[in-house]
This record gives sequence, C-alpha cells and structure tokens, in this order.
Amino acid sequence: MPQLSVVVPVLDEEEVLPLLAERLRRVLDTSPELGGDYEVVVVDDGSRDGTPVLLQRLRREWPQLRVVRLRANAGHQAAISAGLVAARGDWVATLDADLQDPPEVLPQMLAAARREGVDVVYGVRGDRRSDSAFKRSTARLFYAGMRAAGARDLPADAGDYRLMSRATVAAVNALPEAHRVLRLVVPSLGFPATTVSYRREARPAGRSKYPLARMVRLSVDSLTGFSIAPLRAATWFGLGGFLVALGLLGYALVSKTLGHTVAGWTSTVVIVAGVGAIQLLCLGVLGEYVGRIYSTLQGRPTYHVAYDSLEEQAPDRQSRT
Ligand code: UDP
Ligand code: MG
Repeated sequence: MPQLSVVVPVLDEEEVLPLLAERLRRVLDTSPELGGDYEVVVVDDGSRDGTPVLLQRLRREWPQLRVVRLRANAGHQAAISAGLVAARGDWVATLDADLQDPPEVLPQMLAAARREGVDVVYGVRGDRRSDSAFKRSTARLFYAGMRAAGARDLPADAGDYRLMSRATVAAVNALPEAHRVLRLVVPSLGFPATTVSYRREARPAGRSKYPLARMVRLSVDSLTGFSIAPLRAATWFGLGGFLVALGLLGYALVSKTLGHTVAGWTSTVVIVAGVGAIQLLCLGVLGEYVGRIYSTLQGRPTYHVAYDSLEEQAPDRQSRT
C-alpha cells in the first residue's frame, strides 16, 4: 500500500489540471520521505469538458495517477467521500484541484503528523487575501455560526485541505451519514490533531464551481448535520411568544376593566403576521431535519463510481505475478 494517497475532487477543470499535475508531481516526486511511494486519486465528479480525456493522457506518463470517475456529478463533498473510500494510503490528503491549496504544503503536513504523532493535520488558511471579500465574509459567518451552534473544536478557516491517518479515514468511511460535511465530521471525531498554516492562493485558471446556491446548501447541511440548535431555537421562539402573549393578556384585561376597549387593528395584524412568520420558520427548520432523516433512511448512495483506473490495471498485474 502506498504511504500517501492524495485525493483530488475535480469538476470541469481542464484549464487548471495540467498546472496541478505539474506542481503536485514535482512536490511528491521530489519528497525524499515518500520515495515515489504514493498515489494521486483524482475523482472526476462527472466532468463534461475535456477533463476525462486529459486525465487519461496524464495517466500515461504518470504511473502514480489513478482516476476514479463518478457516473454523474455528485458534488464536492460526495466526490471527496468517494476518494476516501478508494484511497489505499497509510496517510490520505484531500486537496482541491484549483491550486488554491498549494501542494507544496503536503510534505509539511506529513512531517507535522509524524513529528507530533497526530492523526489529523488541518491546513489552515492563514492568509485569504486572494479570496473575494464576499467569500471571506460568508466564510467568517459560516465558521462563527457553526461554532455558536456547538461545533466547538472546529478549527477556524480550515477547509478541505487536510491530511488524515488511515484510522481517521476508516472512521469517516464507516459513518452512515449520507450528506456529510467533512470539514465538520473530521474534527467531531476528536482524534489528535494539529494545524499547518498556508497561504490561500488565487485560482490560476477556470472558475469556481461553488455558486451561491451550493454555498447555502453546504451551510444548511453543515448546520443540520451537526447541531440541533435550530430546533432548540424554535422552542425559545415559542417560549418568547408565550411570554409576550401573557403580557398582552394582562394589558387587555386591564384595558377592559378600565373601560376603554382597544381599537387595536394594527397590533392584531402585527401579532398575527409575526406569529405566523415564526411558525413557518420553525416548520421550515423542522422540515430540514425531517428531510435529513428521510434521505438517511432511504440510504441512497450519494455517488456512483463509473470506473476506477486501478481496476483496469488489476488483471494485468495479476498476470505479471
Ligand atoms: N468540485 C467537484 N464537484 C463539484 C464542485 C466542485 O468535484 O460539484 C471540485 C472542484 O473541481 C475543485 C473543488 O471541488 O477541485 C473546489 O471547488 P471550487 O474551487 O470551485 O470551490 P471554491 O474554491 O470556489 O469554494
Ligand atoms: Mg477553489
């Protein structure tokens, strides 16, 4: 088994793949510790551009490159999950294809893991100046929100650039949770961890595959997959509403005894609308959790593997031994 597997989820990255292959290969081939004993598992998440052809071409001259193609686009997190199942290394790193996470940090991560004897090394974005202001502020909101919702051991600004031991990967693969958000699931295991800080670079080519709708989806999955704080919030809304109602009851009784009945059209409308809105909100929150339970019960796989280049090689290898 290789010492290190590098899992790279890829969707329509034909512009950036040659650059990635060059930089990643240089780092991995020149690492004296690895001595060429690694595999790169590129998970092609149903690309529709030239990515599959390009990957086959790259594979011809890069024996450590392995391609796992998914039958249809499954999304970033599911693609990484597929890679984690496929990876065979003693250590497994996950890395975005777009070079925003510089591959040069990988040897530092491996060294830190071995030196400190930990299971997980988080790549922490020390410098995010290359991200847009919008991305940075939404990210800040995400990490603050998740911590407030109870994910206390979530390392700040740690995305999906991380190194995990075999034991960690086995633990993640064994989770029954379907729509898992790995950046939350991995810290929640509570395995010994350390961080390596790096500078987030700008995407050299291609464009982001994370439109706003996907970012919202990731946040909702993160929150509902991790915390029941929103359900508790519904209880607090209910309690608050009850107290306000009590106050209003007192006010109404006093007004009635004093003789001037309230001509309160405005207040009535405001109360009805306000309570209605809160009820709908709570119902929506409940719906998110019920939906999660529903999809977990259905147990549908979140991705389908079309082929794994390793399996194409296998008969060949058998005949050689
Ligand atoms: N990606 C993927 N499937 C998707 C969306 C994205 O495999 O459905 C990959 C993409 O090719 C990249 C990584 O996930 O390697 C992160 O995506 P991107 O860089 O577009 O996200 P951003 O950095 O803008 O958050
Ligand atoms: Mg990116």
